[in-house]
Amino acid sequence: MFLLAGLGFLAGCATTRRSTSLPDVPWSYGRAPGSGLPPRNDYPVLEPTAPGPVQSPPSQTFGGLIPRSGWATGSPIPTRMDPLTGVHRITLHHDGMTPFSSTSQGDAAARIDSIRRAHQAQGWGDVGYHFIVDPAGRVWEGRLLQFQGAHVKDKNPGNIGIVCLGNFERQSPTSAQIDALREFVCRVQSAYRIPNSRVQTHRELAPTLCPGGAMQARIAQLRQVGAFA
Ligand SMILES: [Zn+2]
Repeated sequence: MFLLAGLGFLAGCATTRRSTSLPDVPWSYGRAPGSGLPPRNDYPVLEPTAPGPVQSPPSQTFGGLIPRSGWATGSPIPTRMDPLTGVHRITLHHDGMTPFSSTSQGDAAARIDSIRRAHQAQGWGDVGYHFIVDPAGRVWEGRLLQFQGAHVKDKNPGNIGIVCLGNFERQSPTSAQIDALREFVCRVQSAYRIPNSRVQTHRELAPTLCPGGAMQARIAQLRQVGAFA
C-alpha cells in the first residue's frame, strides 16, 4: 500500500524528485548560535530583499524560501503552540481576504504580516500556516515547521498548512502562484512521503469556501493531469 501511494505521487512529482528523504522529520531544528531561526538542511534560505520590483522570483527555480525574518515584524509565541509531529497531510488554503494580485515582495510581506497579527490577536502563537505562496510565485516560510499549524479546525496535528495569498472566490490565482504551489507541494510530499490522497484543500476537510472556487478548480486540474494528486 505504502509503496503504491509513494509511486503515485512520485509519478506526478518526477521532475522535482529528490533522492534524500526520511519518513518523518527530514531536517533538524537545533538552533544555530546567534540565530533566531532554525538551520535548514533542505532549503537554502534566501536573504530578504528590500521591497521593490520583482527581479527573478526565487521560487520559480525553487532555490529557496524567504525566511520568516523576511516579513514578520513580531515574534512567534512558542508557549501557545504544540510541536509538529507525525506529518502525514498537507492542506491548501487561500487567505480569503480582499483580492490581492501584487507581485511586489514588500506588498506580500505586509500581507503575510497582517495575517500573523490577526492570528496572534485571536490567541494563536504565530501565523497559522507553515508556508505562503504569493502571486509572483515566491514561497515564504510561515510558522516554523517545528510547530503544529493552526489552519484546519480539529485536523492540525501532523498537517502542513500552505496558503496562497488572495481570495479565490473573487479572483483567480496566477499561473506563477499555481506553478510554485505545485512544485513546492511536491517537495513537501517527497520530504515527508505524503501520498497524493493526503494533499487536500481546506474545503475537502471542513465546511468552508477555502481555498475559493477558482483555486479549487485549479487544484482539480492539477490532479487530473497527475501533477500532484
Ligand atoms: Zn483555509
